[in-house]
Amino acid sequence: MAKKKMILDLDTGIDDAMALAYAVSDPNVDLIGILSSYGNVVVNQAAKNSLKLLELLGATDVPVYVGKSHSSETDHFDVMPISAQIHGKNGIGEVDLPEAKRPVESGDGIDFLINSVKKYGKDLILVPTGPLTNLDAAIQKDPSIAKQIGNVTIMGGALTVPGNVTNVTESNIHQDASAANRVFTSPLHLTMVGLDVTLRTLLTYKETKQWRDLGTKAGKAYADIVDFYIKAYDVTSPDLHGCALHDPLAVGVAIDPSFVKVLNLNMYVTTDEKYYGRTVGDPTRLKEPTNVKVAVNVDTDRYLNVFMDHLTSLFKKH
Ligand code: CA
Repeated sequence: MAKKKMILDLDTGIDDAMALAYAVSDPNVDLIGILSSYGNVVVNQAAKNSLKLLELLGATDVPVYVGKSHSSETDHFDVMPISAQIHGKNGIGEVDLPEAKRPVESGDGIDFLINSVKKYGKDLILVPTGPLTNLDAAIQKDPSIAKQIGNVTIMGGALTVPGNVTNVTESNIHQDASAANRVFTSPLHLTMVGLDVTLRTLLTYKETKQWRDLGTKAGKAYADIVDFYIKAYDVTSPDLHGCALHDPLAVGVAIDPSFVKVLNLNMYVTTDEKYYGRTVGDPTRLKEPTNVKVAVNVDTDRYLNVFMDHLTSLFKKH
């Protein structure tokens, strides 16, 4: 089987950093580029973080592009204090990684995405783990890509559980609910890996210790970065007893959909003030065919084993 091509669209905070490592380590995909988004950090910081992490992991052949710097509804973006609390001001747990030698690509990130869809079509997997602003902009610029792209698996949304920004809104969707609504109601086929499943895959100090004990640079750096995240979760979500593997679960599901059980649904995202950013079934389209697969259950043990195998074997080498 030919290797699938993968593009990650990251607002590179801590779970994005784990998603990046998962994609680099998976033998079934070829990571052809990273598109950067605002969210956990500003877009240029996200790009910088991705480059530093790629260098740490020996993946210096992967280009990093800059995408949109703010939501389609605004002309400016400021990092929310809660994001800095969870991911650190620099997005990677205040861990100081060396500047990457590879610079950010000078080309436009949205064009990179469109051109990659034209080039690889059904063999391309896109995993946005931040706001859907970049994907929306690409579809606006060239609507034909919505039907050409092979697989889009997003981290975002909440269908069967409450949101994590407001009672109805998950954070990535909340950043740009208008863009999310255009993406969900486009002809695009997408899989939604939201809080319904990501809050069931948790990581603890026990796992990060295994990375630290490897004695490698990458093992120590990732243990430090993720320990910051677990500490933040101890304060913000003490009932979970660990940190949620939001973004790396989306990468795992994009490569192996059998990790989750899905519900087929046509969805929309509400943008009114009261229920801003709610991802829910579209009452005007409650019939076949459907374009969204919502992950509603996950094989937690199997995923965690594969996740640890992937990251530990990668960190062992770097
Ligand atoms: Ca993210």
